[in-house]
Amino acid sequence: MPIVFDLVAVAGILAITLYGSLQVWRSWQEARLATRYFGQEIELLQEKIERQQQISQVAVSRAKDAWEGFRKFELRGKILEAEGICSFYFAPHDGKPLPPFNPGQYLTFKLNIPNEDKPLIRCYSLSDSPNHPDYYRVTVKRETAPRDQPNLPDGKSSTYFHHVLNPDDIIDVKAPSGHFYLDTEHQNPVVLIGGGIGITPVLSMLNTITAMDSQREVWFFYGARDGSELIMRDHFSQIAQQMPNVKLNICLSRPRKEDQLGIDFHHKSRVSVALFKELLPSNNFDYYICGPAPLMDSLTSDLYDWGVPKNKVHFEAFGPATVKSVRDTQSEPASASTDKQLTIELKRSGKQIPWSTSSGSILECVEAAGAELDSGCRAGNCGACEVAIIGGAVDYPNEPGAPVEAGNCLTCVAIPKENLVIDA
Ligand SMILES: Cc1cc2nc3c(=O)[nH]c(=O)nc-3n(C[C@H](O)[C@H](O)[C@H](O)COP(=O)(O)OP(=O)(O)OC[C@H]3O[C@@H](n4cnc5c(N)ncnc54)[C@H](O)[C@@H]3O)c2cc1C
Repeated sequence: MPIVFDLVAVAGILAITLYGSLQVWRSWQEARLATRYFGQEIELLQEKIERQQQISQVAVSRAKDAWEGFRKFELRGKILEAEGICSFYFAPHDGKPLPPFNPGQYLTFKLNIPNEDKPLIRCYSLSDSPNHPDYYRVTVKRETAPRDQPNLPDGKSSTYFHHVLNPDDIIDVKAPSGHFYLDTEHQNPVVLIGGGIGITPVLSMLNTITAMDSQREVWFFYGARDGSELIMRDHFSQIAQQMPNVKLNICLSRPRKEDQLGIDFHHKSRVSVALFKELLPSNNFDYYICGPAPLMDSLTSDLYDWGVPKNKVHFEAFGPATVKSVRDTQSEPASASTDKQLTIELKRSGKQIPWSTSSGSILECVEAAGAELDSGCRAGNCGACEVAIIGGAVDYPNEPGAPVEAGNCLTCVAIPKENLVIDA
């Protein structure tokens, strides 16, 4: 009997001990989970604080180191990236610090080209991340005469960059500007799309995401005709290998025999919304697009058709043709009742030029009438076409990239709102 009693007692003690241990283990597990949860929360909070601190530091140094007008820069390096495409590294001649920029912004250059009667103004996107305080890099494609008009001259500025500019040469540069840039404050998922030389601003965005070691989801699409047109192929592969959150997609529309599917490129097609529908988990991304006119036209309108809100589609146009066609897809077609008939008066010459909705910008309309106005980028970015308004008012179908002084307008992107008199 005492043995049976002992056994029951031992079993009872064991059960109590086991129950107690279980409770302690549970509490310990809960405490551990709570610590881990709060630890993660604290880490996230710390990351947020660090990001905010970085953003404020960037804002302070941007305000402190920015400059007005043109500043002298020296060419420090020139690297051939692909046939007809070179990268140029510039450092400030005064040796003072460089302000950071937003990835996607561009520089405006004033070029004194031999035998040209006035300096040429051109914009080039910054192609590296802002995490290099000692240089700015741009990557320039040499524009040759159109295939169907080989007698026309090659592109003036891009030929000057490629054939005339050499290390140590000095050049005039305006501070970084432009509204097309990656939102780095929020970590929402993005689709970055570069077609041809339009890769440059999205390359800067990708390099920034990499430099920040950001975990945000990135789908990167790079479109070209064939492998000979691609730049920095190895750089992109390396990023995709290091960062599982970056999904690299190289699309070649007409690959050469030596371009190997799965090795040199991923899709034998153009970049298209049909491809996004196959690959992306949803349409819920911010889209940043830069490329030739047909690519921009089809992507922007197909994204809207797919239900992507307009404020999630961001794009940059590199030239007048692109600007025009993208603008046309965004604005309502002119009907007989909305087609205004106005007049642009050039005050100094006294010339009166009729303008209607189909005449395009003030600059296009004036040039079509055989008169001349100063111009630069022809995309509302460089400010070279700014003139004073003497009478009337203007509208901007798209917000210009360059700041405009009160009472002035940028003729390359402005249209008359009423009969207009300008100081030209
Ligand atoms: C915001 C922005 C960012 C940009 N970023 C980049 C960048 O990162 N990289 C880049 O390479 N470019 C970029 N560009 C484009 C760049 O600014 C220039 O437009 C481009 O280099 C061509 O300039 P160009 O002076 O060489 O050519 P232009 O002299 O302006 O000639 C352009 C084309 O017209 C042809 N042409 C010449 N005469 C005629 C004629 N009479 N009739 C018809 N055609 C003619 C030329 O052969 C050439 O093909 C950017 C543009 C903008 C607005």
